[in-house]
Amino acid sequence: MTHNIDTQYIRLLGSQLGLFKEKGNKVWNFRCPCCGDSQKSKVKARGYVFQKKNDLFYKCHNCGVGMTLGNLIKHVDPNLHKEYIMERYKANTPNNNEKPKFEFKKPVFKTNTEPLKFLKNFVELGEEHPATQLLQKRMLPTQFYNDLYFTDGFFEYVNTLIPNKFPTITGDHPRLVIPFFDENKKMFGLQGRSFGSEKPKYITIMLEDKPKVFGLDRINLKEKVYIVEGPLDSLFIDNCLAMAGSDMILDIKDSTIIFDNEPRNLEIIKKMSDTIDKGKQIVIWPDSIKEKDINDMIVNGMSVDEIHKIISNNTFSNLHAKTRLIDWKKI
Ligand SMILES: [Zn+2]
Repeated sequence: MTHNIDTQYIRLLGSQLGLFKEKGNKVWNFRCPCCGDSQKSKVKARGYVFQKKNDLFYKCHNCGVGMTLGNLIKHVDPNLHKEYIMERYKANTPNNNEKPKFEFKKPVFKTNTEPLKFLKNFVELGEEHPATQLLQKRMLPTQFYNDLYFTDGFFEYVNTLIPNKFPTITGDHPRLVIPFFDENKKMFGLQGRSFGSEKPKYITIMLEDKPKVFGLDRINLKEKVYIVEGPLDSLFIDNCLAMAGSDMILDIKDSTIIFDNEPRNLEIIKKMSDTIDKGKQIVIWPDSIKEKDINDMIVNGMSVDEIHKIISNNTFSNLHAKTRLIDWKKI
């Protein structure tokens, strides 16, 4: 019955949204709280909440931002969001009546995004910021701008989460902060990607002792899961996780592993071979593809659809995969 909860909460949120109107047929229209909508015209309202499958989604036709209703509520009113999450949680819990009471008291919702409290996401940062321009250059889908964060001093930021993680902050610099969330949208780690030539390009910081996996908050385990190497690459592929530097192949039955396109990298070739030995499906990129990873393919002009097609046409397993791997590797 999350349905009714969604409707109830978009109406509640409406009091805080400019020019809020219920249009009927599960459509609501208002001024976009992310971009502020038109600055010239105070009567323009280009934000829409609408139904998609069983959930409500938000889309702005001015700034292009798109997100779940939950994230919209979180953006406008974090306190209302906590209530909303709690209501949905209760409604989604099977055997509601038998549920022991203490489970509702877990503080998990209060601290979910606590590690991000002092950072701005890229919707808040705005288009003019140089860091946002890097995201644009990498052509990252704008619907993820509110799940990616910016810090102007990565070492100092990490030290606020894990005291003395970086004993010296000499050479501190800005980074893109990519949070790792679990299924309950609780943050358990992060990856910092440099904007310039600072090395290493990616630094992974774990807040809990868990596998370094990105995207657990977004995937549906009942459907086929794709697994890539890099978090940013995973944003282009449907139902996709990233094993952020972890060697662990998740124990997900219906999964396809997509390694980077590095036929000269012995370490990757070895991992691919091991993955095939475990009976997993893997993607081996066709020889015509020169780019190293999915994000590079996008930047060089390939569409997401083309990439999905290449992936499905180049998925192999067992003997077929073995033969193709021998063909593909360049060393
Ligand atoms: Zn907008």
